[in-house]
Amino acid sequence: MLLEDLIVLNKVRKVYRMGDEKIVALNDISLSIKKGEFVCLLGPSGSGKSTLLNMMAGLEKPTRGEIIIGNKHIEKMNEKQLAQFRQLNIGFVFQSFNLIPTLTALENVSLGLTFRGIPKRKREKMAKEMLEAVGLGDRLRHKPSEMSGGQQQRVSIARAFVGNPKIVFADEPTGNLDTKTTMEVMDLITSMARENKQTLVIVTHDVEIAPYGHRIFYIRDGSIEKIVENKMKGDT
Ligand code: ADP
Ligand code: MG
Repeated sequence: MLLEDLIVLNKVRKVYRMGDEKIVALNDISLSIKKGEFVCLLGPSGSGKSTLLNMMAGLEKPTRGEIIIGNKHIEKMNEKQLAQFRQLNIGFVFQSFNLIPTLTALENVSLGLTFRGIPKRKREKMAKEMLEAVGLGDRLRHKPSEMSGGQQQRVSIARAFVGNPKIVFADEPTGNLDTKTTMEVMDLITSMARENKQTLVIVTHDVEIAPYGHRIFYIRDGSIEKIVENKMKGDT
């Protein structure tokens, strides 16, 4: 099966300026990721993984270079266009969950659908179904502080997937979890993405996680050091 490129980066560079100092976080990165692919970005702390992921998700702008997602140049979009693009196409899972503490699990998950003009009842039904799918059907009214780390990450996975985005990005989604919960959360993310034929890009510094991917991109000092295909998973 011939798969189309969904995410394409051309010579993406990101330089942060701290006073007089220049930090080259991304050094002319070019890559492409196909529709339905599952890619792991693996590298040591400070190598530029989060910066790269944030660029692809339209959360940050490159200093120069092109970021093309499904034929759209997202580096040319203004904030409003980007926000709309993200709402329709992208789900994001953060290491620290980033749930809103005053909202229940159900409200956290349904919130992202508000901007799509879906009526409240429908939103709550979708959020409830998604929370049931991640095994939290009995925690709908719980607030983040009333749940374990693993449960909070399940809520944020439900939030990322509820709108059925084309792409799900996850930045060290298991970084704050124990080993057992890590495997459960990884199985959940990958099986949901596979079921919905979504493209998945996960950042990790955990070599245990990387083999879940079809391809592993090794990141070092703002560059792609090498790309390794995972034969076991290369069955798409
Ligand atoms: P990783 O996710 O691999 O740990 P990051 O992408 O967060 O790495 O950071 C890459 C480099 O860019 C690091 O040297 C970091 O200190 C720097 N950096 C990241 N974000 C900023 C920022 N907002 N301002 C200045 N420097 C930053
Ligand atoms: Mg990071």
